[in-house]
Amino acid sequence: MTDPIMQSSALQRIAPSPTIAATQKARMLKARGADIISLTAGEPDFDTPTNIKDAAIEAIKRGETKYTPIDGIPDLKEAIAKKFARDNDLQYASNEITVAPGGKAVIFSAFLGTLNPGDEVIIPAPYWVSYPDIVKLTGATPIIIPTKKKDEFLLTPDALAAAISPRTRWIILNNPGNPTGSMYSREWLEALGDILLEHQQIMILTDDIYEKIVYGSVNFSTIAQVQPKLFRRTLTMNGASKCFAMTGWRIGYAGGPQSVIKAMTKVMSQSTTNACSISQWACVEALNGNQAFLDDWTVAFRGRRDVAVSIINDTPGLTCATPKGAFYVFAHCAGVINKTSPRGRVIKSDVDFTDALMEEAGVGVVSGAAFGMSPYFRLSYAAADEDVENACLRIKNFCTSLT
Ligand code: PLP
Repeated sequence: MTDPIMQSSALQRIAPSPTIAATQKARMLKARGADIISLTAGEPDFDTPTNIKDAAIEAIKRGETKYTPIDGIPDLKEAIAKKFARDNDLQYASNEITVAPGGKAVIFSAFLGTLNPGDEVIIPAPYWVSYPDIVKLTGATPIIIPTKKKDEFLLTPDALAAAISPRTRWIILNNPGNPTGSMYSREWLEALGDILLEHQQIMILTDDIYEKIVYGSVNFSTIAQVQPKLFRRTLTMNGASKCFAMTGWRIGYAGGPQSVIKAMTKVMSQSTTNACSISQWACVEALNGNQAFLDDWTVAFRGRRDVAVSIINDTPGLTCATPKGAFYVFAHCAGVINKTSPRGRVIKSDVDFTDALMEEAGVGVVSGAAFGMSPYFRLSYAAADEDVENACLRIKNFCTSLT
């Protein structure tokens, strides 16, 4: 019998998010009683700060519970404009800013509103898992450019120049990067900007969602700030999920050319409508209020990072660099390939390795394949101190037991 529910061709072009899939697998095994420490999700374990929660409660009490303008409430757009001016030296007018239900929705509406089949989007690998699939949903083609470990997984100006074609419409930069935690310095962004200045047809999406989670060895910069001539061609994206521990509140935002903002608003008017009214008021407080908690969080993240990096580099078969931002370690696992686990599993790839870690060592991490680079795996240290340490020790014991 034919299945009456047919899949669209757009759906057939994409895969479910591998990070969400890994997180769900860990959850399912845990629910069945398995002892799993999950370092799969890109989600701070800290609670949303109280002043932000209180602002949401006040908004509910005031009755701020109705539809809002698609592109966000004026108070939030004003707070975002102030944030861009204060933190990034970027001056956006209100009609150059939009809010969306999450950073993912910002990217989705920008690409759906501007890309056509045949268009190309340059994505340096390793990349955040959703970039290529969002591009594919629109019918455009992701052009994946592998970066090198020796370049700290940053896109070089030469590699960028070689990837550009007459069909290139966008390039995605992610700074600090998920999954590597690498950061583009001001000089590096200037050099990339010099290439992009020669190609007027290309727009730049900079995903700065980890902006505030940085450990000080490189100062955060964003491309429109260091190359003001690219301001009119850049969509500067950010959001509340990572820096304010607000993943569930679903707030992302962007500043960019009015034409792109208008296209995004049109897409959202027929899809998501507005971001949650209450979350928007909470985000006003997140952006305008005291952000001193970020210092404590960064200290905690740095401690966990150092523990993870030290144990991984003391593990047979694994190596990793010290990330400069975000809350991930991207570890090279070439040394475990072709080894055999205590249960007789031959590890042929990073996917086999992460499966074995989940099933034999009780640790959830995500394979490098999900991020477009193998053999690697990503570990999120946005988890309790003891979980990060114990999970890394389990990984070490597992690797030591391989033959
Ligand atoms: N961009 C990057 C690099 C991310 O890692 C994530 C979340 O994992 C997002 C965007 C999307 O964040 P959200 O949709 O929760 O705002």
